[in-house]
Amino acid sequence: MEDTLSQSNSPHVLIFPFPVQGHVSCMLKLAELLCLSGVDVTFLNSDIIHRRLLRYTDVVSRFSCYPGFRFETISDGLPTDHPRSGNRVVDIFDSIKMVTKPMFRDMLLPGGCLNCGTRPPVTSVIADGIMCFTIDVAKEMGIPVFLFRTVSASCFWAFYCIPKLIESGDLPIKEDDEMDRLLNGVTGMENYLRLRDLPSFCRVSDLSDQGFQVVMSETQETYRANGLILNTFEDLEESALTQIRKHIPNLYAIGPLHANLKSRLEAHMSSPPRSSDSLWEEDRTCMTWLDEQAPKSVIYVSFGSMTMLNREDLIELWYGLVNSNKKFLWVIRPNSVAGDGRNIPAHLLEGTMKRGYMVRWAPQEDVLAHQAVGGFLTHSGWNSTLESIVAAVPMICWPYYADQQVNSRLVGEVWKLGFDMKDICDRVIVENVIKDLMDRKRDELTRPVDRMMKLATRSVAEGGTSYTSLNRLIEDIKTSTK
Ligand code: UDP
Repeated sequence: MEDTLSQSNSPHVLIFPFPVQGHVSCMLKLAELLCLSGVDVTFLNSDIIHRRLLRYTDVVSRFSCYPGFRFETISDGLPTDHPRSGNRVVDIFDSIKMVTKPMFRDMLLPGGCLNCGTRPPVTSVIADGIMCFTIDVAKEMGIPVFLFRTVSASCFWAFYCIPKLIESGDLPIKEDDEMDRLLNGVTGMENYLRLRDLPSFCRVSDLSDQGFQVVMSETQETYRANGLILNTFEDLEESALTQIRKHIPNLYAIGPLHANLKSRLEAHMSSPPRSSDSLWEEDRTCMTWLDEQAPKSVIYVSFGSMTMLNREDLIELWYGLVNSNKKFLWVIRPNSVAGDGRNIPAHLLEGTMKRGYMVRWAPQEDVLAHQAVGGFLTHSGWNSTLESIVAAVPMICWPYYADQQVNSRLVGEVWKLGFDMKDICDRVIVENVIKDLMDRKRDELTRPVDRMMKLATRSVAEGGTSYTSLNRLIEDIKTSTK
C-alpha cells in the first residue's frame, strides 16, 4: 500500500466531528478515505468519545497502516457522567460553544498542539457542519474549511428553509391537528412533506427553543465555508441536492460513505479487515444466532445510539414484535429505557425466549448484510437508513428526533423502501406493519429496494457520482496546499 504512506509535502487535514456516535463514525470513514489517497489526517475527538473508541474498537490498529494519521483530543466541556443522549444532547451544543471553541482556537493557532512544528501544518479543516465556529478559526489561519453535515440532504434543505417557514407562518406549529398539512415552504418537497415530517427540532411552539435556534443558525452559516460535504448520493436525493446547490454551489455528495470506503479498500486489498467504529461493545453472538435462522425470516430492531424509550413504548413495541410471530433481533442499549424496566409481562418474556434475541449493541452492518435478516425496524437515523439501503433491507421507520422525521417520510412515501410508523406506538399497528413488511406487502417493496441498492452501489463504483465527487474533494484538498 505504497500510496498510503505519508509524504513530507502532503496536504494535512484536520477532521473535527461533533462528539456523538453517528457523526464520529462517518467522519472516521471519511478520514480513512483521505488517508487512502495519501492525505495526512489529524482526527480531533472529544476525550470521552476517544476513550470509548479505544475501549471498544480496534481503531488504533486499523489506522496504524497510515503513518500520516493521528488522533488528538479535546474536552466537550461536559461532566463525565452527563448522559449525552436523548433530549440532553442539546447540552453538548452549549458546552462546545463555551468550553471547546476557545480551546480549539488555541490548539490550531501557530504554536498550539495541532500546529507545533512536529508535523506538517494543517492545510485545511473538515469540521462538523453544526460547529460553524470552526469557520472563523480556519479563516483566521488562512486555510480552507469544508463543512460535513451528517444528516440527509433533504433534512439539511428543510433546515435551510426554516426562515421561509417562519415567514409563511408555518412555524411555530400552532395546533396539533395541523400536523398532516402539506407544506409549501420547502421547495421541491411540496408534494409529500407535511408539518409532521419536519425535523423534530422544528416541533416547537416557541421559536427561541435552543435546539431549533442551533440548527437554524448553524445551517444558515454554511455558505461561509469553502464547501459542503454530504453523506448521500445523487440518485437518492437529487431534488434536495439541486435545491441546495442553488445556495451552496460547492457541494460534495460522497455517500453512502461506508460503501464508498468498502469499495476503495477492496481496490487496495483482496479482503479488507472488518472494522468497527462503535462506542459500545459489539455483541457478535447474535451473528451465530442469525446463522441458525431461515433466509429473510428475522426482523432486526435498533434505534441507534441516542434514542431513549419510555416504558409504555417499549411494551407496545415488544407486544407488536411477539404477536407478529416473527423472529426478531433487538438491540437495547444500556440505559436507553427510561423508567421502570421491571415486571415485564410473562407473555413477552416467553415470546422472546421462543423467537427473539436481544443484545446491548450489535455489529449492525454485518447484521443487515446477513441473509437471515428480512426487515429493519429502525429509528431512521441517517447512517442506519443508508446501511439498510446498501444491504437491500426494507424498513419500518419509527423516528425519534433530528432528521429522522424527514428520512422516514422519504423511505415510506418517496422511495417506497418501507413503511413510516411516525408518531404511532400501538401494539396492534406494530404487529400489522411487521406482518406487512415481512410477508403481506413484501412483494411491493422488493423492486424499489433492489433498485436503490443497485443505484447506491453504482454511485461509489469507479466513475459513479459519489466516487467522482470524493475524488474532486481530494483534489480540492490537495490543491489548497499549493
Ligand atoms: N449501530 C451499531 N450497532 C447497533 C446500533 C447502531 O453499529 O447496535 C451503528 C449503526 O450501524 C450506525 C450508527 O450506529 O452506523 C447509528 O447512526 P444513525 O445515524 O443511524 O443513528 P444515531 O445513532 O446517530 O441516532
